[in-house]
Order: sequence, then C-alpha cells, then structure tokens
Amino acid sequence: MKKKKIKEILIKKGDIGATAEVILAKKKKQKSLFDFKEDLSETDSSLEISELYSALQKMALSEGTGSHDVKLGILRGLMRKTSPLETKYLLRIITSTLRVGVSTMTIIDGLALGFTGVKKNRDSIEKAYNLHPDLGDVTLILAEKGISEVERIDIEYGVPIRMMLASRVPYGEIIEKTGSPLTVEYKLDGERLQIHKEHDKIKLFSRRLLDISKQFPDVCRVIKDNIRATNVIMEGEVVAMDHFYEKMLPFQVLSKRRRKYDIDDIMKEVPVCLFLFDILKCDNESFLSESFLVRRKKLEEIVSERDELRLVKSKTIKLTEELLDFFNEARKEGNEGIIAKSIEDNSVYQPGNRGFLWIKLKGLEGGKLKDSVDVAIIGAFYGKGRRTGVYGTYIGAVYDPVSGKFIAFTRFFSGLTDELSESLTQDIAKYIVKKKPNNVICEDIPDVWLEPEVVVEIIGDEITISEKFLTLGYSMRFPVFQKFRPEKGPKDITYVNEIDELYKSQ
Ligand code: ATP
Repeated sequence: MKKKKIKEILIKKGDIGATAEVILAKKKKQKSLFDFKEDLSETDSSLEISELYSALQKMALSEGTGSHDVKLGILRGLMRKTSPLETKYLLRIITSTLRVGVSTMTIIDGLALGFTGVKKNRDSIEKAYNLHPDLGDVTLILAEKGISEVERIDIEYGVPIRMMLASRVPYGEIIEKTGSPLTVEYKLDGERLQIHKEHDKIKLFSRRLLDISKQFPDVCRVIKDNIRATNVIMEGEVVAMDHFYEKMLPFQVLSKRRRKYDIDDIMKEVPVCLFLFDILKCDNESFLSESFLVRRKKLEEIVSERDELRLVKSKTIKLTEELLDFFNEARKEGNEGIIAKSIEDNSVYQPGNRGFLWIKLKGLEGGKLKDSVDVAIIGAFYGKGRRTGVYGTYIGAVYDPVSGKFIAFTRFFSGLTDELSESLTQDIAKYIVKKKPNNVICEDIPDVWLEPEVVVEIIGDEITISEKFLTLGYSMRFPVFQKFRPEKGPKDITYVNEIDELYKSQ
C-alpha cells in the first residue's frame, strides 16, 4: 500500500493503531511501508509478553547512527507476530497513545488494595511515587518486597523527583497562609530545571521530568565547574539573557533552545543563566525535610556565583506592603511576578505538592484575574473571514487529577495574531481525532476534536459561573491567549480545584 493511502486512512481514523488494524485486516499483499510481509493478517506465531517487553526495551535503548534501522527491524519483527487487533494496541503502546482513562491516583489506590489489602497504604505508595515517579518500578518493589520496602524509597541521584509547586491566593491573604516573616523571590520567566550532579555527570530534568541536558550543555558545564559538592540535587529556573548577561529575556526566546540540532549555534545566539532556588540533596544528606532557610543557606554555601549561574533574588519580609514593593520591583525587571515562600519550621520541600508553603503572585490589576490559567486544547472551530484556512476559535480544558479527565472550561480566540493562528493550526494537526476522546468531558461541539496535548496559557477578566460548561460549572470572561507552554504536559495544566479557588478569590 502506498504511503499516501496510509496517510489518508490515518487522517480518517485519527489514530495509528486503528489505521494499522484496518490496513492489516485487508489481507492484501502489501507494498511500500509494510512490504516486509506477504500477508500481514496471518501472524507467524503468538507473541509472549516477556518477548514484547524486551523488544520494546531494545527499541527504547537503541540510539545513534543506525538506530532508525534497528528500531524499524524490531517493529517489523513485532508486527509479524501480532494479529491486526494486537497490532492496533502494539502501535498505541509504542506511540504512547494507549489510553484507558485511569489516572495515576486510581492506580495507586488499586496498588494499595491489591497488594496490601489496606487502602490507607496508598499514602506510602504515593509518597514513593513522588520520589521515584515510575509506577512500574514502584509496583515491582511492592510486588516483590512489600510495602515496607516501598516506604524506604528515597530521593536518589539521577532519578528526578516530582516537583513542588505553588498555589495562588489574593495578595492580601498571602501572609496569612505563609506566616510572617516569609521569603519572597522573583518568579522568573524561564524554564524549571531539576539538576542532578553526580561527580562530573550532570543531568537536567524538565518540569515533565524529561532529561533535557542536551539542550543546555553550557548549563551542565557551569554546574560542573562552580558547585562545591561532589553530588547534589538542586532546582532553579533557566532564563534566556542578553549577550551582556544583564537583562533577562522572555520565555519565548528561551524556547529556541528546544531545537535538537545546531545546539552550538543556538547556544551562542541565546545565552542563558541558571538561577538556583532550592536544594534537595547534597552528598549523603537529604534536605527534603529541612526548612526553607536551611536549604537556602546550604545553596549559598556551595554555589560560586557568576554571570551564568546565580541564586534567585530573594528577600525576607514581614508585611504585605513590603511584598507589594518587591512585586513591583520584580515586574519592573521583567519577571513574571514573585513567589512567596514560608520559612516556618515546617517549610519542607513537598514533592509533587501544590500547597500553601509556596504562593505565586503574577498580577494585581483590579477586576482582572489574579493569574493566568494553563489549558489543554481539546477542540477547534474553523476560522472565518481573515482566518479562513486556519482554526479561529479553540476550546481549552482544565484537568481533574482524580478522574483523569480533561474538563471543558472556555472557548478562546482573542490574542492570536495571524502568525500565532497559523502556528497553532499546525501544532494541533497531529492531535486531531475522529470523535471526542474518552478522557475529555465537553458540552460544546467543535468542528474538530483533539487529544488534549497542546498546552497554552490564557488570561481573562474573571471566572464566571457557566451555563454551558456544566461539568466544571465555571468559565472565563474575555479569555485572551498569552503564550504556548511547550514545556508543560497536559497533566501539568491548571486543575479543576484551582479554578474553584480562583473564583473564590475574586
Ligand atoms: P506558571 O504557569 O505560573 O508558570 P506553573 O504551573 O509552571 O506556573 P507553579 O507552581 O504555578 O508552576 O509556579 C511555579 C513555577 O514557577 C515553577 O515551576 C518554576 O518554573 C517557576 N519559578 C520561577 N521562579 C521561581 C522561584 N523563585 N521559585 C520557584 N519556582 C519558580
């Protein structure tokens, strides 16, 4: 079958697994892409799960020159051994599009009940997962060694932990939540990094816990040369800078670093500075249970600051007036705002948690919403007039971590220039699906449905009670597109409970 024909079926089906199933079920002699086999509908033999596992592992580990052929060879071998229906699921596994609508938290509940018979053990499993976010590994330990071994899982060099996040509350209530005195820090407009240094081996993990060290060889070098500790895990924000390392540039400039090739050129074009703000482990000592000021002091002890490596600007204050002064100063210098951090005895680092120990403040404007909202795009409407040929209006959803569903929140179209519309139209093309995805709840009917993958930031005038989006119950008045958030995964977007809090804070 010709590639073009396969593409046509793919567009119709909207899913590579279903496409393969249709093609293979036709029982025709194949050409082109699938020409390795006369009749793919007849499988050679059945495939053992262990065989599938080691083949997938081999595929994942193969890299460098020739890896494409190796991967293709393994894929061929697998497809030869699977029926059309099995191929459908095989391809969905490989392309990470196999969805059964079960959230991580539900699996954790299931593990607790299934392996220990006691639901409350879910807390230990969740804690372990936050420190070692691979449910496969955690399950193996639970199954082979039991809950006591799961409870021993700890922060480890080379394994990223789920990051601590910040809540939002109206500025007048921040100090009530954090206690006073507190520390305020610039909220920099860059990308969060979790840095693991083990001797000379440096790994940088993104907010989605992906290893993105290759994007920042300069950051790896500066860490290697300017940290006075053999092993350390720290966090900071990497920010694009002008060539004199004086002025911070917005996140959009930093996004150029996402390129896989020509990294040396792009490194020269976009210099960066890493601003450190936390330390989680140093040599043999875990700092997770230490209070914030102890952690900050340790950072100060081990970092030699220079143009490309600094500590984030911070100040200890007592009053809301001081907090506002610091906020205005931060904004003047091009930051997104500030993060207020509790310094009380219990101000520990809480992996994977969005609590009130850290509170972000991005805007003060009366009437306007206090913060932006990150949504995943789940649907789009064809543009009209000047927007013919691109999508004009989009539906953004927020995430419910309990049910694992994306829940429609608002339509939006303002703030998109022609160039942005063009680029968004291209970005979403590969996520178009034939019908509403199972993990989406939406009362609107767009022209095209999308897998919730593309994340954007929007801001509006206020959160209103919605008569349309009844599941969420809220929507946004005058939503305006702010920016793409390519560094965020769909599950890192704003949660439903945060919308509730935003509504109450108005
Ligand atoms: P936002 O959408 O507002 O950037 P977010 O959803 O990425 O926020 P939040 O928990 O809301 O995450 O805010 C924390 C984020 O702010 C961090 O992930 C980090 O990237 C960024 N940040 C910038 N400066 C700091 C700082 N001084 N301390 C902690 N995080 C900071």
